[in-house]
Amino acid sequence: MTRVFLASRNAKKLVEMQRLLAEHVVGVQVVGLDGVADYAEPVEDQPTFEGNALLKARAGFAATGLPTIADDSGLCVSALNGMPGVLSARWAGPPKSDERNNELLLAQLGDVPDARRDAWFECAVAFVGTDGGELVEHGRMPGRIIHAPRGSGGFGYDSVFVADEHAGADLTSAELDPVEKDRISHRGHALRALAPRIADALA
Ligand code: IMP
Repeated sequence: MTRVFLASRNAKKLVEMQRLLAEHVVGVQVVGLDGVADYAEPVEDQPTFEGNALLKARAGFAATGLPTIADDSGLCVSALNGMPGVLSARWAGPPKSDERNNELLLAQLGDVPDARRDAWFECAVAFVGTDGGELVEHGRMPGRIIHAPRGSGGFGYDSVFVADEHAGADLTSAELDPVEKDRISHRGHALRALAPRIADALA
């Protein structure tokens, strides 16, 4: 079994990534932050998802010597010129809170009509191999922001987001079965694109 380090502190995101990797890269044991010695995690100060994902993967590899995967993701809202974007996790300021982030977002979109509430989730997943080689893939999930939260699954902005794929049934991402979210999600698309390239790099 090859050990691969997944550099994420977000427990729910980690579960999604572990599930997707287990499905698409065989013979790999995924190690989380709990399985490695503490190290100084970098400040996510890059202007792009790709920049932050690479920052986290490089730092993880430098600290552990293990092939490392990291993602950076967020919600981009057209009526907010693509924000919160890379600031999604801390949109309402410290301490990080999904509930306060959602409240702020809904307040900011208070006067925005349905026709202009389109948004998308975006994800960049980066891999750094033991030879220092770097790989990056991206994924997107388009949809729209509703007016009040619904559903208890997922995390982050899932309860205020209806993906285009589920517009007919009007289900938020927090009302989806986890396997269905993986199938259509930004993270699912990015990890499925990266998985065969990781498998090649580890071979
Ligand atoms: P990161 O850990 O810096 O990548 O922060 C990602 C943030 O974007 C999360 O804290 C959420 O607020 C948001 N986000 C990313 N992916 C998702 C998702 O799949 N559902 C809901 N919110 C997400």
